[in-house]
Amino acid sequence: MKILFASAEAYPLAKVGGLGDVAGSLPKALKALGHDVRIVLPKYQMVRDVKEDLGPFSVAIGGMRHEAGLKMSSIDGVPVYLIDYPPLYGRPKVYEYEDDGKRFGFFCKAILDLLPVAKWWPEVIHLNDWHSALAAAFLETMYSSDARYQRIGTVLTIHNMQHQGLFGKEVFDWLGLPPETWSSEGVEFFGQLNFMKAGIVYADRVNTVSPTYAKEIQTEPYGYKLDGLLRSRAAKVSGILNGIDYDVWDSKKDPFIAQPYSKSTIEKKAMDKAALQEEVGLPKDSRAPLLGIVSRVTEQKGFDILIPALPQMTKLGAQVVLLGTGEKKYEDPIALIAKAHREVVAFLKYDEALAHRIYAGSDFFLMPSKFEPCGLGQMISLRYGTIPIVRATGGLADTISDLTAEPAKGNGLVFEEYMPSALLDAAQRAIGFHRRGRGWKAMQKRAMAADHSWGASAKAYEALYEKLHRA
Ligand code: ADP
Repeated sequence: MKILFASAEAYPLAKVGGLGDVAGSLPKALKALGHDVRIVLPKYQMVRDVKEDLGPFSVAIGGMRHEAGLKMSSIDGVPVYLIDYPPLYGRPKVYEYEDDGKRFGFFCKAILDLLPVAKWWPEVIHLNDWHSALAAAFLETMYSSDARYQRIGTVLTIHNMQHQGLFGKEVFDWLGLPPETWSSEGVEFFGQLNFMKAGIVYADRVNTVSPTYAKEIQTEPYGYKLDGLLRSRAAKVSGILNGIDYDVWDSKKDPFIAQPYSKSTIEKKAMDKAALQEEVGLPKDSRAPLLGIVSRVTEQKGFDILIPALPQMTKLGAQVVLLGTGEKKYEDPIALIAKAHREVVAFLKYDEALAHRIYAGSDFFLMPSKFEPCGLGQMISLRYGTIPIVRATGGLADTISDLTAEPAKGNGLVFEEYMPSALLDAAQRAIGFHRRGRGWKAMQKRAMAADHSWGASAKAYEALYEKLHRA
């Protein structure tokens, strides 16, 4: 199948967060299944690896034709179309400019206008998050007389519902979409233009990055005012879990960790724990349960319940190592707690190598998220035989099952309520399992046996594209 994968980020050419990881890896996994997948990305300043120039093409928007350049690059053999338009993209950052509405509105139109010059007609355009979502509205309302476009099916993947791309009416006027799309049935949202809404209304299928998050966003606490619309389109909404890169996250050959280990040599993990305790300055005690956290320090990640619970955890005999950066209102109290408790250490920075050593050296991994579309940390932990302690939300609920409820099948500790006491209860249960030691190795091996590579997710996307095809 021919699939055009549209994203504002794709690792390693341009990455800000998790979207970049997905766009860098899912297309590769689809290619491995035999599909002709190509990525389309704006050519920001940081994108320097241009391999080919396909020449100029014009993007009709804002009442005129703009001449853009179509360049090509690649990511591990997956071709990447680059939209070269310096007035909007020749800047150092990917996002956070005043004119992001225009920048990504232009991107959405260019995705379609580049096809005749590329001379390559996809069967599916896979849109990701608000930055490309509006392309579905253009395709549906302005290209219907062209048979080459009519055959294209669209999928929108929502990676985070919190960011929808809201802009003033003047951006809508500039885009040149048909006036009738400015309605509550179209792209208008409480007097503003909403890119994500446009995608939900006009894409053939809408999916998100876990089955549970697909249900949650249809409810008020998680839907950010689009839950009603999603409920009304429930028949086309689904969820597919992200994968993790099994080459990067592999305890058998991880260059960052002290001692490689596998399922059959799980006892060697103890050496990584000792090395981590030494490195971060925790008491070197093999019996003390060590809880790791690697996370953005934000409301989403559960810091409102984690911070009050941290001092209590040390009373239960746990050690905690935290790596993360984010909001000052959480970083400051974390620093204070770390100062007051020798069993809590905090590194308020971004550090890829230390992250690997925390995944490998910890006994447990904490993710008390308020909401979590998919989450990678818990899947990485499983791969390192580190038992996750999570709140049952989004992708966490789909990947982690509770050991107390299912002792023979569980792979972590799960709690429901967004309360410090519920998190503490889960931590207490975790510590109990660790102390008793019975079945501990079997538990770790079971965690390591789970398959969260991209292969399984790519097959699920393939099935989704096929549904489109038949529709
Ligand atoms: P999100 O994309 O919402 O931040 P995920 O769990 O999906 O959360 O992915 C976060 C990824 O970023 C994980 O791979 C995690 O290890 C990594 N990460 C987060 N903070 C840091 C940090 N301070 N240093 C190194 N890696 C980090």
